[in-house]
Amino acid sequence: GEMELSRIGLVGLAVMGQNLALNIAEKGFPISVYNRSSNKVDETVDRAKKEGNLPLRGYHDPKEFVLSIQKPRAIVILVKAGFPVDQTIGVLSQFLEAGDCIIDGGNEWYENTERRAAAVKEKGLLYLGMGVSGGEDGARNGPSLMPGGSRQAYEYIEDIVKKVAAQVNDGPCVTYVGDGGAGNFVKMVHNGIEYGDMQLISEAYDVLKSVGRFTNPELHEIFTQWNKGELESFLIEITSEIFAVKDDKGEGELVDKVLDKTGMKGTGKWTVQQAADLSIAAPTIEASLDSRFLSGLKDERVAAASVFAEAGLKDGLTTHDVDKQQLVDDVRKALYASKICSYAQGMNLLRAKSIEKNWNLNLGELARIWKGGCIIRAVFLDRIKTAYDRNPALASLLVDSEFANEIVQRQAAWRRVVSLAISVGVSTPGMSASLAYFDTYRRARLPANLLQAQRDYFGAHTYERVDLPGSFHTEWHKLA
Ligand code: NAP
Repeated sequence: GEMELSRIGLVGLAVMGQNLALNIAEKGFPISVYNRSSNKVDETVDRAKKEGNLPLRGYHDPKEFVLSIQKPRAIVILVKAGFPVDQTIGVLSQFLEAGDCIIDGGNEWYENTERRAAAVKEKGLLYLGMGVSGGEDGARNGPSLMPGGSRQAYEYIEDIVKKVAAQVNDGPCVTYVGDGGAGNFVKMVHNGIEYGDMQLISEAYDVLKSVGRFTNPELHEIFTQWNKGELESFLIEITSEIFAVKDDKGEGELVDKVLDKTGMKGTGKWTVQQAADLSIAAPTIEASLDSRFLSGLKDERVAAASVFAEAGLKDGLTTHDVDKQQLVDDVRKALYASKICSYAQGMNLLRAKSIEKNWNLNLGELARIWKGGCIIRAVFLDRIKTAYDRNPALASLLVDSEFANEIVQRQAAWRRVVSLAISVGVSTPGMSASLAYFDTYRRARLPANLLQAQRDYFGAHTYERVDLPGSFHTEWHKLA
C-alpha cells in the first residue's frame, strides 16, 4: 500500500547524524535518513532495529529520500562543515520545493549559514543553522540545541527539537536563538568557553600534581569531591573518571601515557578572532587557544627543556613545601573564580555580536539551554541565568552582586595559587589571564594614562584629561 511519509529527514550519518536520527525516531517522529556512502545508511537502519524497532527508514538515493518526507519538508544536515554542506544542499535542492526547510546541524562558520540561507531563499527554501552540542552521547540521548535563522522553520520543527533536546528542571535545552547565523555563532562561543573550562581544569590538575604531588587516585578523589559542590559539571565529572582509568597496555593510569599534545578543529580559534574583531577582551579563552598551540610544539618543548637544564635552570618544585589540604581548597577556589571570568568574556562576546547583528540574543536563556546536554553543562550555569534574570543589561557577570561576592570570597586563594605557580615555574596561563582580567576590570584607574601620553608623544593621537572636557595635544619633547 501507500507508504506513510516521514515527519523529518536527516543527511549525514557519521557519529552525530546517526545518533541524532535515532534520538528523533525514539521520540516518535518517523524519520528518513540518507548518507553519501551507503554503508552508513545500512548501519543506521540496523541500529534502529536493534535499539527498539525505531521508526527510521534508510535511503540510498537522494531523490527517493527527499520524496519520502512529508511537506513542507524539514531536513537536518550533519555532514562535515564547509564545502560538504554546499554539496549536500546542491544534491537535495534538486528535489526540494518552496516551503521546505534545511537545517544544518554542523559546527559551521556563521557567515556560511547566512550565505546559504540567502542562496536557498531564491528557491523559496527556509534555512536554519543549528548548533548541536554534547558529542555522541548528547546526540543520542539529548543534546543542547542552538537553532538560529528562519523563525518559521523553527516553528515547524519546534515540537521535534523540544522532545529531542536534553531536559532540565526548567525545560528542554533548546530555544530559538535568533536570526541569520546566530545559532552557529552561539555554538561557536559555547565551544570557546569549553576551551576555557578545559584549560582551567588542566591547570588545576598541573598545580595539584606538580606542586602538591598528588597521585592519580588522590586526584580522582579530589575531583569527585569537587563535583559535589560549586564546580559540579560534566567536565569535572569526566576528569575525575579519567584519573581512575588504568593503563591497559602497561603500569599505572592511562592519563600519564597520553601524549601532551592537544588537537583542535577551529571553533576556539574563530571565537578568539571574533573577540578581536569586536574589541572584546577574552584573555582566558585566548590563553586556552595559545596553550593548545604551544602543546602542539612537543618536540620544540622537549628540546627547550634540555637547553634550559644545560643553562642551569633548576626545577623549583623539589624544594617546595605546601599544606596539601589548603592547596586543594585554594585550587578549587581559583578554578571557580577563573571560570567566572571566562564566562564573563564569552557572554560579553555574545552580547557584542548580538548588537552588531541585531540578533537580540537572550543571554540568560542561552545559559539555560547549556544546563543540559552539552559539554559545558554545569550547575554554575543556573547562576548565570539568575544573574541575567536579575539584570538583563548587566555590563559583566563580574559585577553581578552574587558573582562579585563569590569572587571576593575566593580572591585570596586565587592569588595564592597563581603566585605559587609563578614562583615554582608551573604555567597557569588561564588562571593568570583570568586574574589579570579581574584586576584590570575592577580598577577605576589603569596605567593607560601613560600609554595614551606615549601615543600623543610620538603620533599626536591626542588625549583626554581627567579634569577638563575636550581633546588635547602636547609637544611632549619640547617640555621634557
Ligand atoms: P564528520 O566527521 O564531521 O563528517 C562525516 C560525514 O560527512 C559523513 O557522513 C560523510 O559522508 C559526510 N561528508 C563528508 N564530505 C561530504 C561530501 N562532500 N558530501 C556529502 N557528505 C559528505 O561527522 P561528525 O563528527 O558526525 O560531525 C558532523 C558535524 O557535527 C560537523 O560539523 C561537526 O563539526 C559537528 N559536531 C560534531 C561533534 C562531535 O562530537 N563529533 C559535536 C558537535 C558538533 P561519507 O560517509 O559519505 O564520507
